[in-house]
Amino acid sequence: MADISLRKVSKRFKAVTAVDGLSLDIADGEFTVLLGPTGAGKTTTLRIVAGLERPDEGEVWIDGRNAQGLEPAARDVTFVFQQYSLYPHLSVFDNLAFPLRSPARRVAEAEIKERVEEIAGLLRIGHKLKNKSTQLSGGEMQRVAIGRALVRRPSAYLMDEPLSSLDAKLRGDLRLELKRIQQDLGATILYVTHDQIEAMTMANRIGVIDKGRLIQVGTPRQIYEDPASVYVAQRFGQPQINLLPAGLLPNGFLPHGAVTVGARTEHLDLRIDRDGPARVEWVEHLGDQNHLHLRLGDHQITTLTPPDTPFKSGDRIAVGLMKPLYFDGEGLRVRIA
Ligand code: ADP
Ligand code: MG
Repeated sequence: MADISLRKVSKRFKAVTAVDGLSLDIADGEFTVLLGPTGAGKTTTLRIVAGLERPDEGEVWIDGRNAQGLEPAARDVTFVFQQYSLYPHLSVFDNLAFPLRSPARRVAEAEIKERVEEIAGLLRIGHKLKNKSTQLSGGEMQRVAIGRALVRRPSAYLMDEPLSSLDAKLRGDLRLELKRIQQDLGATILYVTHDQIEAMTMANRIGVIDKGRLIQVGTPRQIYEDPASVYVAQRFGQPQINLLPAGLLPNGFLPHGAVTVGARTEHLDLRIDRDGPARVEWVEHLGDQNHLHLRLGDHQITTLTPPDTPFKSGDRIAVGLMKPLYFDGEGLRVRIA
């Protein structure tokens, strides 16, 4: 496996700056996730690393070599696309073996068999190897598509929202499996998604990207607990972080420059209090937990509560803050020294 380094990479399409001065180092064996909404520049970034797109500025280094001028095939990275494309007339085995049978590679059939069976086992499709790919479910097809990338043993894998076309249950299963496989293989992966759960659960490090710019890079825990801005804070956590004007709730002290208070469930201390300033508007029962919707003047607060919550619609609530996050007028974090 190899490391990947993006150095001040920019790419414009006419008036659109798809990638804007993006620098990111991905260590050998690291699973890095770029998280951002549609149009953020995720696919373009992957295509630049793969050599499918040429950056206007900046450099890509793969395994310690400047990749400029290297054709995609010479970069030794594989790309897993959002939409799987299998050869329908081939069996699962032959689909998986396909990348190894290219004339350029000349892998012996015995080794092909060994590698295909190993990867099929990892992806739990070992019993489907003789099936035609058209006889598979959507989830199985996507496993084969991922397997076709894994079987090649490249320097690094580039994955473009590979789970987004699957239903929630399969996404959850494959998320776990991909992470396990990545650890087993020690694979270097650059994975892009708009799904915060995928980013939180699979990444060693997350890069939050918006409008082509990398806004913050850190471990899932750092990004969640110590977001650099409102934008980053809003990308993580269910329900979304509550944003309230600073000073709306009494908490004794406000750091200089704080204009907005960000409060997630763990920052809120709620008590039933007939003189409390907030009121329970709605308790949303999700079974294993509840979403509690409060109204406080013109503001809405949503938090998680356990299934046996004592709160019910109409209750008056006193709201306390416990080490919330503070942001300035620009939405940037105000940290307490
Ligand atoms: P993402 O994968 O995060 O959704 P993309 O990298 O696909 O984002 O796109 C980033 C921006 O660049 C978008 O505004 C998109 O419309 C634009 N873009 C991407 N590829 C092209 C292209 N080949 N020609 C023109 N504009 C493009
Ligand atoms: Mg995309």
